[in-house]
Amino acid sequence: MLRKAPFFRSVQAKLIIVYMLLILIAMQLIGVYFVSAMKTSLTNNFTNDLKEQAELLSVLAGQNWTGSGEAAEDKTASLRTLVDNFSSMSSGEIQVLDVSGRVLITSLSSHADLVNSKNTQTVVSRALQGIDDNEEYIIDEDNLRKKVVAKPVFSGEKIVGAIYIVASMQGLYDTMQRINNIFISGVLIALGLTAVLGVILAHTVTQPIKEMTKRATAVAEGRFHVRMPVFGSDEIGQLGEAFNHMTSRLQGVLSLNEEEKEKLASILTNMSDGVIAADEGGSVILVNRVASAMLGMREAEIIGRSISDLLELPEEDEELVDAGLRSIILGGSGGTPDAPAAPGGREDLTIRATLSPIHRREGGAEVGVSGTIAVLQDITEQERLDTLRREFVANVSHELRTPLTTIKSYTEALEDGALDDREVSGRFVGVIQNETERMIRLVTDLLQLSRMDSKETAVRHKRTDLFELIEEVAERFAFPMRRKGISISLEASPELGAYVGIDRDQIDQVLDNVVSNAMKYTTEGGRVTLDAYPLESGDRFAVVVSDTGIGIPKEELGRIFERFYRVDKARSRGMGGTGLGLAIAREIVQAHGGEIYIESDLGQGTVVTFTLPAYAEGGGA
Ligand code: ADP
Repeated sequence: MLRKAPFFRSVQAKLIIVYMLLILIAMQLIGVYFVSAMKTSLTNNFTNDLKEQAELLSVLAGQNWTGSGEAAEDKTASLRTLVDNFSSMSSGEIQVLDVSGRVLITSLSSHADLVNSKNTQTVVSRALQGIDDNEEYIIDEDNLRKKVVAKPVFSGEKIVGAIYIVASMQGLYDTMQRINNIFISGVLIALGLTAVLGVILAHTVTQPIKEMTKRATAVAEGRFHVRMPVFGSDEIGQLGEAFNHMTSRLQGVLSLNEEEKEKLASILTNMSDGVIAADEGGSVILVNRVASAMLGMREAEIIGRSISDLLELPEEDEELVDAGLRSIILGGSGGTPDAPAAPGGREDLTIRATLSPIHRREGGAEVGVSGTIAVLQDITEQERLDTLRREFVANVSHELRTPLTTIKSYTEALEDGALDDREVSGRFVGVIQNETERMIRLVTDLLQLSRMDSKETAVRHKRTDLFELIEEVAERFAFPMRRKGISISLEASPELGAYVGIDRDQIDQVLDNVVSNAMKYTTEGGRVTLDAYPLESGDRFAVVVSDTGIGIPKEELGRIFERFYRVDKARSRGMGGTGLGLAIAREIVQAHGGEIYIESDLGQGTVVTFTLPAYAEGGGA
């Protein structure tokens, strides 16, 4: 919230003070000029009046100034009448002086004692000397300001006396004082009115400002619906309009920002990669759902932790993060053997973490790093497939190389002269033939696997009698087995009466592979048994091929269905095995929607069981 300024610091107070000062200065200037002009004018008028009176009196007195002795009596009497007449017009004292400066007549009865005494004032002596214009400003013993005027009285060409008029200026000063008073009270009234008007006028200026301040505060607090009142088209009105425009722009920009944030959040939530963002200090500030699932931790547990701890980054990587984009593999055995463990103790996962710094920009130039973004990708499956592919290629090359090397050495031997020896050359050609056949078998198996991998071979389910199926296999193998001294028997009864929905060629191949394995890995005197029975669910049948052969060590059983996997490599190869037989068998059985498993005891024998779907009318299996 905004602090409320004390009144004396408010714009309103300042405006009022300015108004009043302006009025005061204006009034002062007018006052000084007016009062001084008034004073000069009044004083001049006053003086001129006195002078005119004195002038008139001196002329009149000059005419009455005749004779001496008796006539002098008359002169005094007529002068007295003259003076009396004048003094009724004037407030001052009029004295008539003779040529020596002696007072002949005074208009003021209280000054009767001055008659015959000498008036020695400068103005008087100047007037008696014939100087016409004599005036003086005096302050008498009663502290009254007075004006003195003296004029010579001429009788003919001769100075016979003087007129002396002294008048109090008090009236004039009183008038001045009154005017001053009127003026001061006028100023005071004007100031009062100005103050009142100032309050009202300043209010009209400051009120919108106060309103705007209130609303600007509201907008700053996020209440964007608040609008400025626009009182008019003056500057304040324009400010209000500009503010409203700014508010709506701001609102637009903010909601755009909000929208972007939402978008980003939903992208982060819905993307299939994990994302972790850390601040400058390396502590996590953002993590998406996928990342927290990969790390096996809840979001709240991850936020605030150090990213290098979280991803268990090796120390040198922490520094490299700052340098630029960097990708590391966490966990899994598929990557480098010394790859760091997958974070969060998830050993089954292989994660690729791509770390990139967030550069801080100022004015278009990069200035340091403000954080790190880690993108986590679950590459477990990809790694597994990569490993399989690598192993597969290595195995294929190896499997092809062995017969090729053999063929090459035998043809060389033939070339070197063995060809001439019929018996030896016949044997050699037999070996070459064997190896070639093995290679053909291998390539055929590989082709079949590759077709199955690319789902090229369609399974055509056909109604097949299960007993007939295994009986035929037994018959096929009866002869070679007898030759090897192995007996083959059928457990299932001819009354089985079971029909399976299968692709006959493919299942024949499964049986061939499994039964030939049983034959291969069973020594003379051993026995191979074929059996078939319905499973409890009734919609499936199990086919079992068991032998009393050399068996498979328990620890190898888990990998026996892998491509090229052999328990005893040298012997299997010697027996013409490609290491793909069981792999193909599994692919086919699975394509039929069944399962295949193997049980074995070393030296005791092996049991291979697989399931087949019962024939279903109409839709196949
Ligand atoms: P191969 O062509 O080498 O026989 P298979 O995939 O068919 O390849 O079998 C894989 C390995 O499993 C064989 O090399 C062999 O060691 C072992 N094996 C398969 N069947 C039997 C069995 N019945 N008795 C003993 N070992 C077996």
